[in-house]
Amino acid sequence: MDSGVKLLGPSDVRALAATLDIRPTKKLGQNFVIDPNTIRRIVAASGVVPGQRVLEVGPGLGSLTLGLMDVGAHVVAVEIDARLADQLPATLAERAPGVPADVLHSDAMAVTAAEVEAAGDSPTALVANLPYNVSVPVLVHLLTVLPGVRTGLVMVQQEVAERIAAPPGSKVYGVPSAKLAWFGRWEVAGLVGTNVFWPAPNVGSALLRFSARDVSLGDEALRGEVFAAIEAAFSARRKTLRQALGDWAGSPAAAEAILRSAGIDPSNRAERLSLADFVGLAKAGESRVASPR
Ligand code: SAM
Repeated sequence: MDSGVKLLGPSDVRALAATLDIRPTKKLGQNFVIDPNTIRRIVAASGVVPGQRVLEVGPGLGSLTLGLMDVGAHVVAVEIDARLADQLPATLAERAPGVPADVLHSDAMAVTAAEVEAAGDSPTALVANLPYNVSVPVLVHLLTVLPGVRTGLVMVQQEVAERIAAPPGSKVYGVPSAKLAWFGRWEVAGLVGTNVFWPAPNVGSALLRFSARDVSLGDEALRGEVFAAIEAAFSARRKTLRQALGDWAGSPAAAEAILRSAGIDPSNRAERLSLADFVGLAKAGESRVASPR
């Protein structure tokens, strides 16, 4: 059945931007999707169901928001740019009459659960065309403050998607892969060309699918310790862990003792460690006395 929702095409996006005198900025990663088929593809890949509460980051002019509303999602959208956040309710009311949606003018890297939940139910899915320069910190922040988010489908820079989804031992496995594995499983769900955006970005894009862990690995204090261990280990990814973790542990000898007690070979390198190894390392290193900086 036709939902009556009218998606935005290339001329709609340009006309809206002209009315608002919006010149898309690189700083805010403003590349708007102008192709309704790409929007339908993202929404289908997200698996969102009618009535589901969905968090969208950076709705921009509303391209993806309308796509989500078209399948009956109840969107809460967080937009940092005041002009876009102010205009969006009018665009949604005109193109998706009667479909409920909430727009928050806020920074997705600082938004709180209280702010999101004040608008309605807590979201269970995250679907977004993320601002590319801050994709990883946005994901870490949102999945931390909104643990009710169980699935996600986000569009990010292709290289970043490949890093996030990389397994230990892969050339591109690094800090984003290990940190985001804390929250669940990530897989690349398809590539997207540059011509579906206005303005066209100079990098390729990819869809990244997320599913949350059934059981959390631990509390915020442990997450902080694990993230510190990940950062320390990758601060010198070509060095052995014994060397790379010297400052974190207090000395290379202390690092070696902690690594051995966690069952990790001190001559290994960070890119070989799974998230489970980092959790073991953080727990083994909890009582270390780090050297003063
Ligand atoms: N969803 C729209 C689309 O697909 O056409 C726009 C996507 S555009 C890649 C990224 C959007 O994120 C822009 O609207 C930008 O203003 C917004 N944005 C950038 N940084 C943000 C932040 N920290 N918090 C919330 N929104 C942000």
